[in-house]
Amino acid sequence: MRSCVQLAEILESIVATCDVPARLALDPVGVVRTYRHPAQQELAGLLSASLAFGQVKALRRAIEQVLSRMGSDWMGVLEDRHETLCRLEGFQYRMVRGRDIGRLLVGARFVQRRQGSLGEAFCKEFHLAGALRPALVAWTRQLRDAAGAFDHEDQGRRGYGHVLPDPAGASPNKRLLLFLRWMVRPNDGVDLGLWTTVPPSALLIPVDTHIHRLGKLLGMTQRSNPSWLAAEDITAVLRQIDPDDPVRFDFALCHLGMTLGCSTRPDPTRCESCPVRADCQQRAQPRMAESL
Ligand code: SF4
Repeated sequence: MRSCVQLAEILESIVATCDVPARLALDPVGVVRTYRHPAQQELAGLLSASLAFGQVKALRRAIEQVLSRMGSDWMGVLEDRHETLCRLEGFQYRMVRGRDIGRLLVGARFVQRRQGSLGEAFCKEFHLAGALRPALVAWTRQLRDAAGAFDHEDQGRRGYGHVLPDPAGASPNKRLLLFLRWMVRPNDGVDLGLWTTVPPSALLIPVDTHIHRLGKLLGMTQRSNPSWLAAEDITAVLRQIDPDDPVRFDFALCHLGMTLGCSTRPDPTRCESCPVRADCQQRAQPRMAESL
């Protein structure tokens, strides 16, 4: 990374040239934005973020399958645990089964009713802890407890642990941080700006393989694997560019990573047209004219 000024110019240009409508059609947050009511957006967001792993088309299809099985009155169905689990019986996306999703959503609906919204529950924890991570740990425990209160079966099964991971570990917790980005960042046509009492400055970037790779190539982290620490490294650099809203670059940067198809070996053709080439530590050098 040569200078923050140069990196800032590159990132602003990536944001400015991102085709948001086209990318939203592929992104899980595109499904969340089809709902208008905040309670629906919270639950559709939690569902979408929980399934946000694997191939993008497959995960969008999985989210839509869950919602279609639940029917148009899916919020009403969530009041009935038995009915929810019946409707989701037979659903499977990778290691996640319908009953894992059912427990998550019924538990989350229970927290919404008890606390007013998932946002209320999170904001209380955030203001109590004064920091993002302990708030996320406490909030996730509330959801886990609520899901467990309805159904003690399968406790600890990998599917349920995967659908709602414990953010106390070293993993980057990409899906939980993605959900927070959707809920907390202002409504900019991508994120929803529902949880207004949490400042966007407190967010950490959700680190998936694309963000981790670009973060390394742009010198924002040296960590060899995606991790919570890598999320802190990358966010610290982004904070120098935009202290109030460091993760506003995430959507455009992540989608750039998806389309780049950048591999471990620099490819002159790909690098030539890559918008981050000026700062990239691995860019292929321009082809030299062949000597006669
Ligand atoms: S310049 Fe080349 S190596 Fe660097 S991110 Fe772009 S495509 Fe990948």
